[in-house]
Amino acid sequence: METVVRVAVPIPAYRCFDYLAPAGVPLESLLPGVRLSVPFGNRIRVGYLIAVVETPGCEVERLRPAAAVLDAAPLLSETDLKLLRWAARYYHHPLGEVIQSAFPVHLREGGGAELARPSGLVLTPAGAALDPATFRRAPVQRRLFEVLRGRERPLPASRLAELAGSGRTVRDAARRLVERGWAEWVDLQDRRIPAVAGPPLQLNPAQLGAVDEISQNLGRYGVFLLEGVTGSGKTEVYIEVIRRVITRGEQALVLVPEISLTPQLERRLRERIEAPLAVFHSGLSETERAAAWLGFQKGEVGVLLGTRSAVFAPMRWPGVIVLDEEHDRSFKQQEGFRFSARDVAVMRARMADIPLVAGSATPSLESIRNVQRGRYVRLVLPARAGAAVAPRYRVLDIRARRLQDGLSEGLIAAMRDTLAAGDQVLLFLNRRGFAPALVCHGCGWVARCRRCDANLVLHARESRLRCHHCAAEHGLPGCCPSCGQEDLRPLGVGTERVDEALRRLFPEVGVARIDRDSTRGRRSLERMLERVQQGEVGILLGTQMLAKGHHFPGVTLVGILDVDAGFYSTDFRAAEHTAQLIVQVAGRAGRGGKPGTVLLQTRHPDHPLLQRLLRDGYPGFAAAELAERESACLPPFGYQALWRAESKELALSMDFLARLREEADGKNGAVHWLGPAPAPMPRQAGRYRAQLWLKSARREELHAVLTDALARLQETPERRVRWSLDVDPVDF
Ligand code: ADP
Ligand code: ZN
Ligand code: ZN
Repeated sequence: METVVRVAVPIPAYRCFDYLAPAGVPLESLLPGVRLSVPFGNRIRVGYLIAVVETPGCEVERLRPAAAVLDAAPLLSETDLKLLRWAARYYHHPLGEVIQSAFPVHLREGGGAELARPSGLVLTPAGAALDPATFRRAPVQRRLFEVLRGRERPLPASRLAELAGSGRTVRDAARRLVERGWAEWVDLQDRRIPAVAGPPLQLNPAQLGAVDEISQNLGRYGVFLLEGVTGSGKTEVYIEVIRRVITRGEQALVLVPEISLTPQLERRLRERIEAPLAVFHSGLSETERAAAWLGFQKGEVGVLLGTRSAVFAPMRWPGVIVLDEEHDRSFKQQEGFRFSARDVAVMRARMADIPLVAGSATPSLESIRNVQRGRYVRLVLPARAGAAVAPRYRVLDIRARRLQDGLSEGLIAAMRDTLAAGDQVLLFLNRRGFAPALVCHGCGWVARCRRCDANLVLHARESRLRCHHCAAEHGLPGCCPSCGQEDLRPLGVGTERVDEALRRLFPEVGVARIDRDSTRGRRSLERMLERVQQGEVGILLGTQMLAKGHHFPGVTLVGILDVDAGFYSTDFRAAEHTAQLIVQVAGRAGRGGKPGTVLLQTRHPDHPLLQRLLRDGYPGFAAAELAERESACLPPFGYQALWRAESKELALSMDFLARLREEADGKNGAVHWLGPAPAPMPRQAGRYRAQLWLKSARREELHAVLTDALARLQETPERRVRWSLDVDPVDF
């Protein structure tokens, strides 16, 4: 009798497909989770075996055979698969795509699962002693030589190609260097951990208490919310817990919200933990990612440090999951499979029976609520003695004040004093570019994006107008396209404009601007941060990139140029986000023992939430905000889903959502519908977007309605409208 297998194929469909098992494959190889190549439409795809089927969905004669089984044994454990199935159900996303997201591209494309050991190039001692003039007539070799000389670590083979226009010439240059004994290839996986793994730190009592509490829970599920300001020693707690986990022969998965936070954490983990460590994020080559993933899956890598996408990486010996900066919104994926890595990590810890340690100075309201309900354990690290005292906040009322490129007199004066005392200043403005708009003073014309409902942003240094919502980019018009006058002026302030003003106001002082524009090049952020640490910079200016993780001990004055945007927004989470930003940015200041001052420029100095934050700190703010959420039945007291639709016409998108609502409305009184309504920015990249909210105090009811609506949609697919469903949306 023929064997039939059910396969999850990574396509946007909510069903699996049945195939005949490939001829000659024994039944015991057909285990859930193995990869198969299957014919689908007129191409071959990689799918994932879900089950061997007793009663296939249609007659066996009509089934096509799968082309091949790709794995001798499944790469996913039963628990991994269980987690992925849960995620597919919870986020109402097609199972094939969900399973695929757990794999690195190399394996998604059917690549082999044996560990390819990536190699890297280093100079030999003979090579390191060379004079660059040796390469007078070999410019490519010379450049490669200089790159290698400037690096502490081997240059991964996969990155050679980035060094020149043609990968071929660089590879030839590498070969020449190796032939002459000036460079050699080394096995990157075998890179030894520094011989000294650092003496264990003497933890302070609060840290010890936290480590003990978590350690008593090893081998069991539990979520620990580790609360402490920057510098209170959270990372040391993670490290000690991981050391104990490694001693038990288990593995640790460490998640951070941003790639930029991995290098410093990687360095500290490597220094202190004597186990192979691998990094997994989108900044690496596919070979490196596959090697890290497989190393972890096979149990050879003890610690995997990664961003959001690493949350599904299979663990051979699950020990602990650490989630740093747990409040950060980057843990939520914003397109395709819209999962929250934080929530998935909690479920994963529960299924694998291991502890999860989530750290933050400003925990999310969801996590605070879970502590109140007794689901999470709160562990607090008070600021260390000897560390800076909490920063002083001062509100700068800028109503009816003239600002100089976004800077008030009061702020400029405070900066003068700070710089004169030899300290550093940090300015925060969450808006990049020179100015958010370009307007004509003759007729009021504003430069708008042709494809979005948005103003074009002026990037003055490059003389460009750019849309921050699509790829549109234009040169600067010489005169107004509407009235012909030559009086076009920038309106509003972005970081580039403040940067220019600072160079004018403080010509003697080094300024480092840190935003997505100024840190585009590889390593440019690291280099800039180095300059700051070495004191070459007096003023640091940046967007939210500055709020995350980095330590600036020399900074004693923080200026937040515009606190208002966040407290007046349609997004009910904006206040929480703004409060977290303020506290996080403030936490960058005054670590060298000197107290820090935080100046907040605002036009609404009496805003109750701002007042609450300044008076009672983040915990007070969180309590007030939670009370408001409760009375409005907003998360974490209610559950939400957001249905988005986009198409060539607004009416199409609206009608599609209206139909969804009509077909389901009234059937379930526990679910409230809101909309459809145009999205906050209806037109983006030439497409019209609308949205429909579903809210309920009961999660199961909400999910039942979604399941129902999706089933109907599968029966009558809509081709002109592209839609997506976002469960627990965080940004809209
Ligand atoms: P956080 O992760 O909360 O920002 P860290 O763990 O990075 O805090 O600690 C801040 C600094 O204090 C680091 O340089 C760290 O090495 C040091 N540190 C932390 N705990 C101790 C301790 N118990 N003894 C000595 N130094 C410590
Ligand atoms: Zn005009
Ligand atoms: Zn646009």
